[in-house]
Order: sequence, then structure tokens, then C-alpha cells
Amino acid sequence: MTKYDYDLFTIGAGSGGVRASRLAASYGAKVGVAEEYRVGGTCVIRGCVPKKFLVYASEYGHGYHHARGYGWSADNVSFDWKALIENKDNEIDRLNGIYIRNLKNAGADIFQTRATLKDPHTVHLEAEDRDVTAERILIATGGAPWTDETVPGHDLGVTSNEAFHLDSLPGHVVVAGGGYIAIEFACIFKGLGCDVCLVYRGEDILRHFDADISVQLHAELQRQGIRVVTQNIFEKIEKTDGEKKRVHLSGGDTIETNLVFWAVGRKPTTRGLGLEEAGVELDKNGAVKVNENSQSSVDNIFAVGDVTDRVNLTPVAIREGAAFAETYYNDNPTQTDYRFIPKAVFSQPPVGTVGYSEQDARHEFDNVDIYKTNFRAMKHMLTGSEERVMMKLVVDGDTDRVLGCHIVGEDAPEMIQCIAIAVKAGLKKKDFDDTVALHPTIAEELVTMREKFVPSDEKLSR
Ligand code: FAD
Repeated sequence: MTKYDYDLFTIGAGSGGVRASRLAASYGAKVGVAEEYRVGGTCVIRGCVPKKFLVYASEYGHGYHHARGYGWSADNVSFDWKALIENKDNEIDRLNGIYIRNLKNAGADIFQTRATLKDPHTVHLEAEDRDVTAERILIATGGAPWTDETVPGHDLGVTSNEAFHLDSLPGHVVVAGGGYIAIEFACIFKGLGCDVCLVYRGEDILRHFDADISVQLHAELQRQGIRVVTQNIFEKIEKTDGEKKRVHLSGGDTIETNLVFWAVGRKPTTRGLGLEEAGVELDKNGAVKVNENSQSSVDNIFAVGDVTDRVNLTPVAIREGAAFAETYYNDNPTQTDYRFIPKAVFSQPPVGTVGYSEQDARHEFDNVDIYKTNFRAMKHMLTGSEERVMMKLVVDGDTDRVLGCHIVGEDAPEMIQCIAIAVKAGLKKKDFDDTVALHPTIAEELVTMREKFVPSDEKLSR
């Protein structure tokens, strides 16, 4: 019998915390979980899931224009924001209920409260104003949107947290940021009929992605009428006489808008948790420093998910939570493999990517071959849309191994999930070439690219 109230106490019931807690409880551990907002965490309540519903909604905004080319008439089409939000909320409530049930069925105790650390084995439950003790403590508190508080009027803007519950659809939106959340919301608002301006401090949006993705998507955003302003930041936000806000940009421009949307990054949620007081080391960004077993600098305190700022995606948080539970509660030492994690941007058109970007591959490998194609998808021959597809394979020229695959185009995330199996398995370009195409699809181009791409300046020097 342990001398503690719990074998494991988890702070935060999001993707990572729930998976770790459920598994540990199912392996027989006595588990307690504290959640200060809603069980399910960011992904289910105010991240991936509600976002994808908004993405689906916004795709119809383009779809009904496209349908005309196929003989459909789509007159008097209207959109009801309130109905969308209500339907989305009903589904989120349902999922929230499933997450709570799954935790309870596994035998975990759920505490609806903010929790903090009192010492390495003691958790304070704020709502109940009492302490519980645990042999191991798992920090799974995730991250939160960051806004630049040095910008005067910054609090006139909203973040993704609030965007899911706007009272009405704004006529005009200014989005700050060039990462995937900024771009996804820019496309959501555009598809639903808003005027959108995206303001990004850097030169290229999606700077951590392959450069061809960045260039292609930038062009696609502009093609659909999103104004993209790079190398600018917000200097000041102020209220105008009416309901609007005026955003002053560092380049001197001003923009009047109905909604200012901050999507300039997220920070690990560690402030005020009592971690440093308990001896847990944090990095300069506030993330919990952990080893490959998700163990912090204090032996019995662990952390998984966004709070560790490794790869901030739901499936990764889930894997880290599962690896922790397997290792410590099922006698099955398991570590998370971070290589070749597929990623998506649910923009319009969407992005799917796995493995090395061309720039990273050239840095690490002596000979890199590039295969790429850029074309208008068959569907758009009748819709009139100028939207294009970009596909690219990055190949190790010495071994023929496919190192990376990058797609901008309809269904790119769905394609990349499957391609990721081949890339992670270390398949060669020849294996792609040996696979018979499935016609007519966009994906068939992935197995029919034969010509190595030669940059035009290299062609000229030949
Ligand atoms: P979270 O899911 O954030 O859970 C942390 C939980 O801890 C929260 O419920 C919080 O309320 C709780 N908590 C915090 N502090 C305390 C405390 N002191 N006491 C009690 N409870 C506390 N990922 C993808 O893979 N695909 C996507 O398409 C995608 N889209 C996203 C879109 C948006 C708008 C956002 C914001 C994120 C998106 N993500 C996406 C990222 C994904 O949501 C996160 O990587 C994932 O949720 C991380 O899980 P986690 O368990 O680390 O933390």
C-alpha cells in the first residue's frame, strides 16, 4: 500500500493528460486528474476539433461557387454563423462527455479545479482548498495563446480561444501571425465571406515548412483575395468612433477592421504552478525540461504534451502520455519517436508535409534530388478556379531514400498521412516509381514524377 493518496496525479485533462491517466488507471494505478476548464483540453474544446468544423464550414463558401461549373445553380445561398457555432458546441459537449466517461470508466478520479504543486508529492486543489499527495505527478497543462502585451491596445484583439465563440461573423478581420493557426483562421474567415488581412513579421509565412510550400500557399492566399502583409507587426490598436478598431502597422499603414485576431504563438502553461519552487527546471520559454522518458529534473515529476514544447501536436501529446503510462505502469519501457511526424495546415488549399524540407535535407545530405510538379487539378477544369496543386519529393541522391514529401492542394493532409508510412519506413524513390498510379486522382502524381527538378540557374550554367 502506497503512503500517498494516489499513485499518479495528473494536472491537466487534455490530449496527453487524459491518455496517460486512462492507461495508467487501466493498468491498475490509483489515478487522480485535475482539470480547471473542460476535460478534453485544447484539441477537443478549443483547438483541432472545433477548428476543423469551422474549416469544413468555410469550404462550402468556395464549394458553392465551384458547383456552378458542374451544372448546379446556387442562388440565394446564405450562411448562419449562430447555427454553426451552436451545432459545433453540441458536438464538443458530446465529446467532452465521452472523455469524462472514459476517464471515469478507467477508474480515475476527476477533480474540476485548478491544481498547483505544493511540494514534489503534494498537489493543492484550489476549488476544494485541500491537498492530495501522489507518488508521481504528471504535468500536462498544455499551452495558451500568447499576445504581445507591449502593443498598446493589444487587449482589443482576440485569440483562437475567443474566436470559437464570436457573437457574429465580422465583416473584416486582421490576423497577426504567419504560422498554421494564423493561416487556418485567415482561410476560415475568408471562406465564410469576411475580408481578411494577414500581417506577418517575417518574410515568408510558414517559415518552418519547405520553402516551396510557403511560396505556393502565399500565392494561393492572395489568389482568393486574402491580403498578405509581410515584414510588418502591429504597433498600436485603437478603437474608432464606431464599433471598429484601427490597427497601426510598423510599415506605416493603418487598417480599419471589425476583428483583430492574435495568432502569434503559444506559450507553455507553467506560470504560478509552483514548479520552480518544487525544483522543476523550466526552459527560457517556460516549458518543463524533460528527458526522453518525459521525466523532469525532479525524479517523480513528469511532463507531457505542449507544456514541454517538443512537437506541439495532439497525436504527439497522446504518444508521450501513452509512453509514460507504458513505462511506469505497465513495465513496458517506451519512448516517443519524433522522426517523420506528418503535419498539416488546414488552409484552403490545405498543406500536408512529412520529413525533411529541401533546405534541411541540403544541410544534412551531400546529394539531394528534388522531384516536383505544379498543376491545376482536374476538378477545377470545370469550376473555373485557378487554384493549383504543388507536390514535391525530397530524395537522398546517394541512397534513393525518400526523405520528405510536401503537398499543397486539395486533400493534401489525407494524402500525407498515407505517404508518411512510406517515408517513415524508409522507402526509396524506386518504390514510388514501381507503384502503379491510381487514375484519375491528384495523388497519382506522387508515383509518376520521373524528371529530377533542375533549378533554372543551374540549367543556364550547363
Ligand atoms: P491541452 O490539450 O492544452 O490540455 C491541457 C489542459 O490542462 C487544459 O484542458 C487546461 O485547461 C488544463 N490546465 C492547465 N493548467 C491547469 C491547472 N493548473 N490545473 C488544472 N488544469 C489545468 N494539433 C493537431 O495535432 N492538429 C491540429 O489540427 C491542431 N489544431 C489546433 C488548432 C488550434 C486553434 C490550437 C490552439 C491548437 C491546435 N493543435 C492541433 C494543437 C493541439 O491542440 C495541442 O498540441 C494539444 O491539445 C496538446 O495537448 P496537451 O495535453 O499537451 O494540452
